[in-house]
Amino acid sequence: MTVQLRAITGWPGLHFDGDGVLRFGDSHPEGGSQAARSLLASAQAGKNLIVIEDASGDTNVVFCRVAEGRWKSGAGGKPPAFVVQIDFADFSHVTGDEDARAAFNAGWGVMHEIDHVVRDTVDPGGPGEAGECEELINRMRRECGLAERAEYFYTFLPGAGQSAFKARFVRLAFERAEGQKKRRRYWLLWDAERVGGLPAPDQVAGR
Ligand SMILES: [Zn+2]
Repeated sequence: MTVQLRAITGWPGLHFDGDGVLRFGDSHPEGGSQAARSLLASAQAGKNLIVIEDASGDTNVVFCRVAEGRWKSGAGGKPPAFVVQIDFADFSHVTGDEDARAAFNAGWGVMHEIDHVVRDTVDPGGPGEAGECEELINRMRRECGLAERAEYFYTFLPGAGQSAFKARFVRLAFERAEGQKKRRRYWLLWDAERVGGLPAPDQVAGR
């Protein structure tokens, strides 16, 4: 994930230090996204404590999610805490177009959840849009020259009702402008039974 966050931010010295604290490094950015750097700088300067937790194999975590944390010994004088859970195993089950895969990994998932905490954004309630959170993440993808997430919700493969095999597989659309008018679509594909989220009341990839 460190390597992915370096690519997204363009900060070559970004790392987690010995105490697990995310450090940006002191080098100048090389490529990457300005919006991503601003978001992480806001997170660092903000009032909330953000904890990143490895939730690999947790069936309740579909890629990523964030929840408000609770201090064990009372919250008196302590900052509000948020726990970002990442299921790294889920990301390893994703296949599909190279261009879509570059735009969807644990690093991008973390940026999405951090945006929820920092800007208090919400995800869309229904299909047909990427949502205000992904809007900023898509700007980062553009700045990195990557395809953008076209939808927030994943959908079953066409013809899913026809076979048990297809019924397990879902897809998520990404796209990139090609020339003036055309947009080219790229797909991510995964087995929803392995990743979790089925039955899918909300069909969400990364809350
Ligand atoms: Zn979300």
